[in-house]
Amino acid sequence: MKGIVGNEMGRLFVVSGPSGVGKGTLIKRLFSRLEGLALSVSATTRSPRPGEIDGVNYHFYSREQFEEGIERGYFFEYAAYNGNLYGSPAEGIVQQREAGHDVMMEIDVQGAMHVHELAPDAVLIYLKPPSLAELERRLRARRTESEERIQGRLAAALFEESFLARYNYVLVNDDLTIAEEILGAIVKAERKHKK
Ligand code: ADP
Ligand code: 5GP
Repeated sequence: MKGIVGNEMGRLFVVSGPSGVGKGTLIKRLFSRLEGLALSVSATTRSPRPGEIDGVNYHFYSREQFEEGIERGYFFEYAAYNGNLYGSPAEGIVQQREAGHDVMMEIDVQGAMHVHELAPDAVLIYLKPPSLAELERRLRARRTESEERIQGRLAAALFEESFLARYNYVLVNDDLTIAEEILGAIVKAERKHKK
């Protein structure tokens, strides 16, 4: 996509990792202490979890709405994940970057690969759980997924890990405070070292 790649604009930070690894938790903590960072709010066809707000956590679309969005080029990237569609609206990303803000995208590995093709200067960060058993524990502790969806997400985790080498950084989310420190340090270091 034209207009999104450029030196003078804000950087793109992409955070991926299996469902339940702690992406949302870490990003929320990071945003409470770093300025000049905007979050790309994705659209999805999955149903909202309890407590999720339309327009804040996601834009919740019907499949028809989403497919219509694909047709009119509304998405910077999109992918199918565990039976649902997820996509990043292009408009918000372009506007934030043109305003000089860095944009953080929390997207799956397929989306991250698309972003890398479209914006090679994007910083790709992969969040890894300390173990698969701990990932399963966190997914269950969150109490948002049915057993079938938990199994789907654990299977997806193995697929996702096969992309790990394509990321600029791999960060293990074991101790939350340490992971938050490291994620903050990556963003600060990459900001100083503009490509
Ligand atoms: P994701 O956004 O990657 O799907 P969440 O941020 O929803 O994951 O986190 C999944 C669950 O794991 C939540 O209940 C969260 O509180 C918990 N969690 C996140 N990071 C850690 C951590 N470092 N140690 C223990 N539990 C964590
Ligand atoms: P969840 O249903 O747990 O919120 O998200 C499932 C997966 O979809 C996660 O890996 C999440 O990062 C990814 N995801 C969320 N938004 C997007 C998006 O806009 N594009 C892509 N490609 N993946 C997304």
